[in-house]
Amino acid sequence: MNDEHVVLRRTKILATLGPATESVEMIDQLVKAGVDVVRLNFSHGSHEEHKIRADRVRAAARSNGRHVGVLVDLQGPKIRIERFKSGKIELAPHDKFCLNAELGRDDGDQQQVGITYTTLPQDVEANDVLVLDDGRIVLKVTEVDGSKIHTQVMVGGELSNNKGINLKGGGLSAEALTEKDREDIKVAAEINADYVAISFPRHVEDVNLARSLLREAGGRGGIVSKIERAEALDNIEAMIEASDAIMIARGDLGVEIGDDQLPAVQKRLIKMSRDMNTVVITATQMMESMRDNPIPTRAEVFDVANAVLDGTDAVMLSAETATGAYPIDTVTSMSRICRNAEQQAAALRSHHRMDSTFKRVDEAIAMATMYTANHLNVRAIAALTESGSTALWMSRISSGIPIYALSTQEATNRKVSLYRGVTPVDFPEIQHNDHAAANQVAIDTLLEEGVVADGDLVIITKGDLMGTGGGTNAMKIVKVGSMPKLAD
Ligand code: PGA
Ligand code: MN
Repeated sequence: MNDEHVVLRRTKILATLGPATESVEMIDQLVKAGVDVVRLNFSHGSHEEHKIRADRVRAAARSNGRHVGVLVDLQGPKIRIERFKSGKIELAPHDKFCLNAELGRDDGDQQQVGITYTTLPQDVEANDVLVLDDGRIVLKVTEVDGSKIHTQVMVGGELSNNKGINLKGGGLSAEALTEKDREDIKVAAEINADYVAISFPRHVEDVNLARSLLREAGGRGGIVSKIERAEALDNIEAMIEASDAIMIARGDLGVEIGDDQLPAVQKRLIKMSRDMNTVVITATQMMESMRDNPIPTRAEVFDVANAVLDGTDAVMLSAETATGAYPIDTVTSMSRICRNAEQQAAALRSHHRMDSTFKRVDEAIAMATMYTANHLNVRAIAALTESGSTALWMSRISSGIPIYALSTQEATNRKVSLYRGVTPVDFPEIQHNDHAAANQVAIDTLLEEGVVADGDLVIITKGDLMGTGGGTNAMKIVKVGSMPKLAD
């Protein structure tokens, strides 16, 4: 056995780009530090800026010999206050304060401020609790009078321009896909985004609408549903089923359902997603203190490690990499924490789907492969995959064995970059369904990657007809170095 094999990180790192990380140099450093997918946050920045960033990411991935996915995150109907004449005010407990849908955009003062979602007064009533600026300010509605929401301050503090508003407990009627989102979906298609994330979806219809708009615009990316509204939790099973991936958007979700509910919800959603073959991203404030500090807090170390142990596919960085002072250190620390957590027994064993039946042949092959890999001393799995679905099924199983997705499709290689434990590798077209040649090229590819050596066992999965999606019907166990030599 080769003991100097490379130990790969299985959990994927999704990093948001921003002013701190948009230069060619910084993007190159992020890729070198191990970022697997970048998030372009369409709440900020122009289309032109995002296009340039996406181009830079792909150029950096190419020059580093890696596949890095691009995720476009739509702004959605984030409700915000408008602006203050003085830029900000200070609210004290018991103060009276009014959210006024008819006030001019820049006319906020100590008594009132405008709001971006002018029908908000119809969605709230006396005794509702409004939470502003991610929980920093809490207002209790005392009376709704036409376009004015009168409130009393429960938790005060500084309130500045354009801060977000959430209704505690959820229930706002805002459409998930705004006019801006619809335009942005077209840009996501142009950019050839691998994933498009919808903000504040409430139900499956929002997910399906986003997908059909993306397809109409020519985009092939997967749809990520950000779970950040209480309503989304009410029909979570259908939401997970309808999505390629979900994001546990702990920021807004915590404000709506209460931060104390988040740990249980995170664990439940990760488990459900894995069981339902959906990819799951854990997001927000994972390394928050590293915006200003070169090392994480102990609590952050535990948060990242616990998400890994819960089984998340990916962990996400927001302001840490977009605007923080230590973006590269943050990625490096996060990577280190993930790797160590992945060595824990809980992350290596699987009790996945022991008592369920399989619907498809390729799914059965994927499951049999993981069962075998976890119980035989296998060094690596090579999944020859067109669509990436075999690798997706495999990645739902906890394991320490690396899964290599060998695909001729660049889009597939970028898509699987989000799947836990899956490393995308380019694979050449194999002529005439020559299986001996395919096996040999698969092994040679792993040898080149430095992940296997002579004597190692490798499982190869593929279909009779290579090059067709969904056709995987075989698993083969080979010992490196002992395959019959191919005729020249
Ligand atoms: P956001 O989403 O960063 O776009 O707000 C994530 C969250 O709400 O946690
Ligand atoms: Mn959010």
